[in-house]
Amino acid sequence: MTATKNELVGRSTSELRKLLKDKSVSCLEILRAHQEHIAHQDADIQAFITLTPELAEEQAKKVDAAVARGEELPALAGIPVAVKDNMCVPGYKTTCASNILKDFEPPYQATAVTRLFEAGAICVGKTNMDEFAMGSSTENSAVKRTFNPWNKEYVPGGSSGGSAAAVSAGFSVVSLGSDTGGSIRQPASLCGVVGMKPTYGTVSRFGLVAFASSLDQIGPFARSVEDAAITLSVIAGHDKRDSTSLSKHAFGEINYAAGLRDSSAQDLVGGLKIGVIKELQGEGIDADVRNTVKDTAEIFTQLGAKVEEVSIPTARHALPVYYLIATAEASANLSRYDGVRYGFRDDDAQDILSMYMQTRSQGFGAEVKRRIMLGTYALSSGYYDAYYKKAQQVRRLMKEDFNKVFSQYDLVICPTSPTVAFKVGEKTSDPLTMYLTDIATIPANLAGLPGISVPAGFGNHGLPIGIQILGNTLSDAIVLKAAAAFEKTTEFHTKQPPMLLAAGK
Ligand code: GLN
Repeated sequence: MTATKNELVGRSTSELRKLLKDKSVSCLEILRAHQEHIAHQDADIQAFITLTPELAEEQAKKVDAAVARGEELPALAGIPVAVKDNMCVPGYKTTCASNILKDFEPPYQATAVTRLFEAGAICVGKTNMDEFAMGSSTENSAVKRTFNPWNKEYVPGGSSGGSAAAVSAGFSVVSLGSDTGGSIRQPASLCGVVGMKPTYGTVSRFGLVAFASSLDQIGPFARSVEDAAITLSVIAGHDKRDSTSLSKHAFGEINYAAGLRDSSAQDLVGGLKIGVIKELQGEGIDADVRNTVKDTAEIFTQLGAKVEEVSIPTARHALPVYYLIATAEASANLSRYDGVRYGFRDDDAQDILSMYMQTRSQGFGAEVKRRIMLGTYALSSGYYDAYYKKAQQVRRLMKEDFNKVFSQYDLVICPTSPTVAFKVGEKTSDPLTMYLTDIATIPANLAGLPGISVPAGFGNHGLPIGIQILGNTLSDAIVLKAAAAFEKTTEFHTKQPPMLLAAGK
């Protein structure tokens, strides 16, 4: 039987792979189905900054040729992917959703992107984001706003809101995002998809525009845990072009998807010890979300895990620590955008100093400027010890809190986002309330730990709720196993937003 175009949208990697191998469809047909869906629906969602049809066409033809030759297909052969617009793809602009990079065409390719392409993925486009990945709703984009596929009056989360919305709406099967303080997990939670931030150093940051280098990690969005695991296996691994990339020995053989499909949920988590973080269950967390954590704990218990409350006392300092360290690093990283070397320049300036100042004043948006100023202040002499150094010390203590917990537990669970998606415009005038949305995701970045958000319920207005599972350094495979066990036991991931359902009509 030949699949009709609509049936090709909303599928998993293994389903599409089977159709390709059976020669029921060509890769070009898979691509066309996704492109048509984007053409019909992205006007409402605005997930993409740039579509990349020429690249996609060339990649699809290569896959079709490999199928015709009867070759063994690589892991993501023929799978439509979307890439956040802070990762370099030559031949197209990498804007970071900023005016300062609006015309920047990178001469090189991000390693994670290269690995995706070498695995046969088909790039449909570059996705919208908060400018320089600073934000939690994708409303800080200088290009456009992205809307939540579940309900267009709500935000998709951020900063990787475009990548989350693209997967949720079925514009691509998987996508890449970056996560500095929650920017993969939080939008995944708000859009009802899976999103994972791996252990720091797992995925090369080469070709990822830097925000806060000690926190930034690239990771996948997908509609299933298995697809997230397959994508992570493709992009993970040592890269000599990133000095913070983990060594080959740290990984062993990379196959995060191994065993996920064939093992029972009990086999995947039975006997594990799972902690529920006490500090992330109280004030500021919506009742629906708190109940989701309780229900999740119950499910893991029934699957044979031992679930108990644990304490990360420093979690309550996560927000101030993050907003000192992330802004300090951002102020240094963003000093390279001076109108000389990259992107936009104000040519009307009379002298070099005014050129720098006018370029930066026009090129950066309000949130980016706020962060540069905060970070510059925290690093300035006289304040460095009181703010930046103190924040680093608390960061260390937080890592020790996690070490203590992980000496006794395999995993911990907590909310991903304290609330479901909020309304477009609801928090834009109050940066502090926007910052508070990251309260539960930031600790994993500060401690370098792997974390995943998986669909775990529905709250107000039928909007998705995600649950977060964190593991110790390099226990990404265990995190994925627990997520897969949860997915096998629940039905939340099978519900689709109206946008994706419309594709099947
Ligand atoms: N929302 C957080 C911030 O605004 C995290 C961003 C991110 O992870 N890139 O900084």
